[in-house]
Amino acid sequence: MSNSHDFRPIVGIDLGTTNSAVAYIHNGKPEIISSPNGKKIIPSVVLIDLKGKVIVGEDARSALVAMPDRTVGAVKRQMGSDQPIPIAGQALLPQEISALILKELKSYVDTLYGKGEKEAVITVPAYFTDEQRRATKEAGELAGFVVERIINEPTAAALAFGLNHMNEDGVYLVYDLGGGTFDVSVVELMSGLLEVKASTGNRQLGGEDFDWKIVDFLAEKIMADSGVDPREDIRAKALLKEEAEKVKIALSESVSVPIDLPLVTVKDNKPVGISTVMSREQFVGLIAPMLQETMESIRKVLNDASLSPKDIDEVLLVGGSTRIPQVVELISEMFGKEARTDVNPDEAVALGAAVQAGLKSGALSESGLVATDVAPFSMGVAVLKEWKGITERPGGFAPIIPRNTTIPVTRTEKFYTSAPGQTEVAIEIFQGEHEWVKYNHRLGEFLLEGIPQNFEKQEEIEVTFRYNLNGILEVSAKCVSTGKEMTVVVQDALQRDSKEAFQESFGQLEKLWGESDADETVDEPDWEEVLDEIDFDEDEDEELTPTVLHEEAIQLRNRTLKVLNNLDASDQNSLRHLLEELNAAIAENDLTQLRKLIDEITDALIDVEL
Ligand code: AMP
Repeated sequence: MSNSHDFRPIVGIDLGTTNSAVAYIHNGKPEIISSPNGKKIIPSVVLIDLKGKVIVGEDARSALVAMPDRTVGAVKRQMGSDQPIPIAGQALLPQEISALILKELKSYVDTLYGKGEKEAVITVPAYFTDEQRRATKEAGELAGFVVERIINEPTAAALAFGLNHMNEDGVYLVYDLGGGTFDVSVVELMSGLLEVKASTGNRQLGGEDFDWKIVDFLAEKIMADSGVDPREDIRAKALLKEEAEKVKIALSESVSVPIDLPLVTVKDNKPVGISTVMSREQFVGLIAPMLQETMESIRKVLNDASLSPKDIDEVLLVGGSTRIPQVVELISEMFGKEARTDVNPDEAVALGAAVQAGLKSGALSESGLVATDVAPFSMGVAVLKEWKGITERPGGFAPIIPRNTTIPVTRTEKFYTSAPGQTEVAIEIFQGEHEWVKYNHRLGEFLLEGIPQNFEKQEEIEVTFRYNLNGILEVSAKCVSTGKEMTVVVQDALQRDSKEAFQESFGQLEKLWGESDADETVDEPDWEEVLDEIDFDEDEDEELTPTVLHEEAIQLRNRTLKVLNNLDASDQNSLRHLLEELNAAIAENDLTQLRKLIDEITDALIDVEL
């Protein structure tokens, strides 16, 4: 059997600023894959401990205050940047730190499916730029996933909702306020077709900002009392940040919360602390401008979709920060009705990513759900533009793909040389909505050379933008008179040679993982648990659909693989032989053979008296 026929599991991942989760399709439904200690979501925090071991999740978060220079949180806010982040005396790129989080999630997937290649659908905020998407894809690949798709978070949440409410046709607004980013999308669900109509957001607005507002508030109080700014002490700053998040979350339940921190920092060898009370009203005052900004985004997205609040049938709230009562109130005021409460704000995105994964793998192909998405911003090139009606200035923005165009999309526009004898044109690529490029986000640039000398405005240049389902852009430019064409996949801001850089990153991470693995002991499988997980009691008469049968075969295969090495040689051989046949039946989708092999392997496992 060649590897190319091997089944490759596919999972959906929510790689969040604050928390992350991974999900898969089980019995036709998306389900979160829990961590070994039963957690459905893990903090997106990485610690490199004193022995050089990488720790991700709850334990890493607990170390944020004690070991601030060995921990990194909220790395998602820096995705796409080329600035390395210091951690434990090393410098790692944002995508490398994200890869450590993804690797942790992959270990949960490996426990379920056994080692081997896995595909992943990873979500990003709809408003993420090209380089932020590329960095996310790279993080997934560094962690060892084949990244099948990058999808937008609000779209994922709508997919999870859509699968459960296939008959609830209507227009939905998905308001997604997480730890680091804010997105809002208008989505229409009609006879199983889920169509994103418009999407907008803010890449730097979320619960983290609310925490920092509280940190500033407390720090200023401490400064007023003691003259010391605790934010200058890295440990004190981490302590205040931790307290701020606790206070914020408590204020979602209570109208006022006491804050008692006797030791925040020291001055003249004496402890400096704070003892105060924060009211919900005070907190709302601190974050009001940011919440108003999210309301502005709602108005913009409704306007883009040519809708008014009364046209929205339901509002879906996604992201941990939507638990803030003021958010719920503002939404109710704007729409004149309560938001839906049957969406789990922490899990919806990962579950939706799994739905997308299931649509891809065929596990949900019978659901009838189909989804389309949009480009949330305009993309185009820099051109000469008339200024004040008198003269032409460089730096004007000519959009080629307007915002909210359904993706994938290919659009071509014609441009002309601007100077006599011009033999090359710089194609400068931007995304954004402003008529001048300096206010937009620069994606990249390339030079089209070899244009024949001619009078100004005589040589025609065709510029084509292709924006794919992952939200990644490819641009080509062609000189029409010569047919000469150049295509670039817009490079990330680092302009790194991708293959070399990838190898370099991978090498660095392997070293870190190597140190972590050295400490790990291989656990003996828990035989009872393994047996419990296998459903020996299947009903022979039960009508099994191909999907269920397929899934059952894969689960049985992976569980058998887990126990294989502990059997004696002859049992190992006969089971290996059966597994090879099972793999072939999975690849060929031979249902009769699958049924037969499932029975044979199950019998063999019972016979070896595990
Ligand atoms: P997410 O990115 O969706 O996991 O959201 C995480 C953000 O939600 C973090 O900033 C959390 O502090 C915040 N959050 C979680 N629970 C609450 C709550 N009950 N009230 C306010 N904010 C919360």
